[in-house]
Amino acid sequence: RAIVRDIDMLEEKNPSIKPQPTPDVDPTLFEKRFLKKIRELGEGHFGKVELCRYDPRGDKTGELVAVKSLKSENREEQSNNLSREIDILKALYHENIVKYKGICQEEGCQANKLIMEYLPLGSLKDYLPRNKNKTSLKTLLSYSINFIWNFPMGMDYLGSRNYIHRDLAARNVLVESERTVKIGDFGLTKSIKDNEGYYTVKDENESPVFWYAPECLTHCKFYLASDVWSFGVTMYELITYCDTSKSPMQLFHGMIGRSQGQMTIIRLVKALAEGKRLPRPLEGCPEPVSRFPEGSGILLVILAILQY
Ligand code: ADP
Ligand code: MG
Repeated sequence: RAIVRDIDMLEEKNPSIKPQPTPDVDPTLFEKRFLKKIRELGEGHFGKVELCRYDPRGDKTGELVAVKSLKSENREEQSNNLSREIDILKALYHENIVKYKGICQEEGCQANKLIMEYLPLGSLKDYLPRNKNKTSLKTLLSYSINFIWNFPMGMDYLGSRNYIHRDLAARNVLVESERTVKIGDFGLTKSIKDNEGYYTVKDENESPVFWYAPECLTHCKFYLASDVWSFGVTMYELITYCDTSKSPMQLFHGMIGRSQGQMTIIRLVKALAEGKRLPRPLEGCPEPVSRFPEGSGILLVILAILQY
C-alpha cells in the first residue's frame, strides 16, 4: 500500500508519467502500410495467398502472417465471397483449423484481405513431394494415422457448427508439423443451418468435382457426410505423396477421357455408378485399402501398416 501511495504522489508531482489510457486498438485490424510482402505462397481459382511480415516498427521484427486476397481479375465479383470466408473463419476456433488473425482494409472499402497464421511447411501438396525422399512408406502411413486423427477432429468440429467445407483436398490441408495438420481454405464452405441437412450447389463450374461424392454430382446436394468422401480422396493424395501424375484429376481424366464442364460430370457420375474408383495407390496394396475413397477408414490404414 505504501508503494502505491508513493507512486500516486510521484504521479501528482509529475503528471507526464501518469499512465495515459491507451486508445482501444483492435488487434485484428492490420494496417496495409505495415504489411510487407515476402513471397507468394499459393493460389487457387479466385484467391491468392502471400507470406507477409506485419512490421509496424519497420525493423523486420514483426510477425510473419499469411495474407489471402482476391486475384485482381476477380476483385469485383468475388468480394462478397471473401467477406463470407472471413466471417466463417473468424468464428472458428479449433487446433485443427487454421487460425484467423484479422483483416486488412483499404480506406473506406470492405475488408479485402484475410490475415491468418502462417504455417511454414505449407499445404500437404507442397510438403509431401518436397519431402518424398526422406519419407519412407512407413513414415507416410504413420502420417496418415496422425492425419486421420487430426483431420476428422477439425471436420467434426465444422460439422458441429453446421458447416460443410466442400473443398477438402491436399492443397487445402496445411501442415503444422509431422504430427499436426490443419484444415484451411474456407472459400467454398457453406452453412446448412437453414437447410434440411444439405446445401444445394448453385454454381458447379468451379467445383472440385473429382473430390466430390456421387450425390453432390447427381443431385447437386451437399451433406455433412459428403465431406467424408472428399476426405477419402484426400487420403488417396496423401498415400501417393501428392504426386501430380497420380492426382485424382489426372487419374479420373485417364479413366473417363478429357472433357469439360457438364460433360465431365456426366461421365464421372457414370463411372462411379459402374463402381469404378481410383486405382490402387500402391503396388501390392490390399484390396480393401485400395477401394478409395470409401475404403479409407482408420482400420484400413492400420491394416496397411501391418502389411508393410
Ligand atoms: P484458394 O482459395 O485460392 O485456393 P487457399 O486458402 O487454398 O486459397 O490458399 C492457396 C495456397 O496457399 C494453399 O494451397 C497453400 O499452399 C498456401 N497457403 C494458404 N494458407 C496458408 C497458410 N496459412 N500458411 C502457409 N501456406 C498457406
Ligand atoms: Mg485452396
